[in-house]
Amino acid sequence: MSKNLNAQTADPADAAALDFDAIVVGAGFAGIRTLYELRELGLRVRVVESGSDVGGTWFWNRYPGARTDSESWVYAFRFSTEVLNEWSWSERYPTQPEVHRYLSYVTEKFDLRKDMQFNTQLVAATFDEDSETWLATTDAGETYRTRFLLTGLGHQSHPYRPPFPNLDSFQGKWYQSARWPHEPVDFTGKRVAVIGTGASGVQIIPLVAQQAEHVIVFQRTPNWVIPSGNHSLGEEDWTEIRSNYDAIWEKVFNQPYALPFNAANRKPSDVTP
Ligand SMILES: Cc1cc2nc3c(=O)[nH]c(=O)nc-3n(C[C@H](O)[C@H](O)[C@H](O)COP(=O)(O)OP(=O)(O)OC[C@H]3O[C@@H](n4cnc5c(N)ncnc54)[C@H](O)[C@@H]3O)c2cc1C
Repeated sequence: MSKNLNAQTADPADAAALDFDAIVVGAGFAGIRTLYELRELGLRVRVVESGSDVGGTWFWNRYPGARTDSESWVYAFRFSTEVLNEWSWSERYPTQPEVHRYLSYVTEKFDLRKDMQFNTQLVAATFDEDSETWLATTDAGETYRTRFLLTGLGHQSHPYRPPFPNLDSFQGKWYQSARWPHEPVDFTGKRVAVIGTGASGVQIIPLVAQQAEHVIVFQRTPNWVIPSGNHSLGEEDWTEIRSNYDAIWEKVFNQPYALPFNAANRKPSDVTP
């Protein structure tokens, strides 16, 4: 994005008609970073977030066992050396509360919260061709006129409601990993069914099994799960990571999923079935 963005803002009369230069939707990793960058450009920005706090994925997914499966030192904002030096993750794969604390810390550090509007869903956005502005409407009925509309909605932020008949009349309690209650759920003495053995399912099952009287797992397609190799990170680890950060980021930039893996450099056809 060019530093001349401000110059694109129309003349003062037009600018006055704008509620904001930019509206950003979502306050997860993407929304936080976007707000930071747009502010650096001198724009007046409003972030609209349907949750009641920052975090996105890490606000909503509070299920037992929720943690990253990316290594913490790269599951992090890179734009601030200060942040990279100040924040030391406690584990290779940190838990949801820690990632949420991290995103809150970055939000406070750059005083981003004052431009965020929580508990607000963007329900419509219409582009007005004449004025070349967006009209963005929230579920509270507010309409904001803005020049730029940037979405940081998250590709995994809209939960999938299980399509089971009679779910609403189910007599037991049911929970979704992506909309887990804020207060802890006690499974002691309960019979629990877990549906799915994807990345969230494999994190939930062992923890629920520690409490519940009985756990049954429903799995449509078997998954390939390997031991996570998680471990805590101490001062020595951090000294090493920080002294290697340039090389680590270099690896990240050259890997298709932006992860610091060494390429195996072989194709499926190179190995036995
Ligand atoms: C359990 C879990 C673990 C994950 N672990 C990893 C990992 O280890 N490594 C990795 O790289 N990725 C992981 N991911 C993917 C993760 O989603 C991304 O890494 C990242 O957090 C996405 O950030 P985001 O800001 O793009 O979206 P999100 O964090 O999803 O934030 C989007 C926000 O937009 C809000 N929103 C959506 N629509 C509207 C609307 N209309 N109006 C207002 N607000 C709206 C949502 O409420 C949400 O808060 C994981 C995902 C999940 C679910």
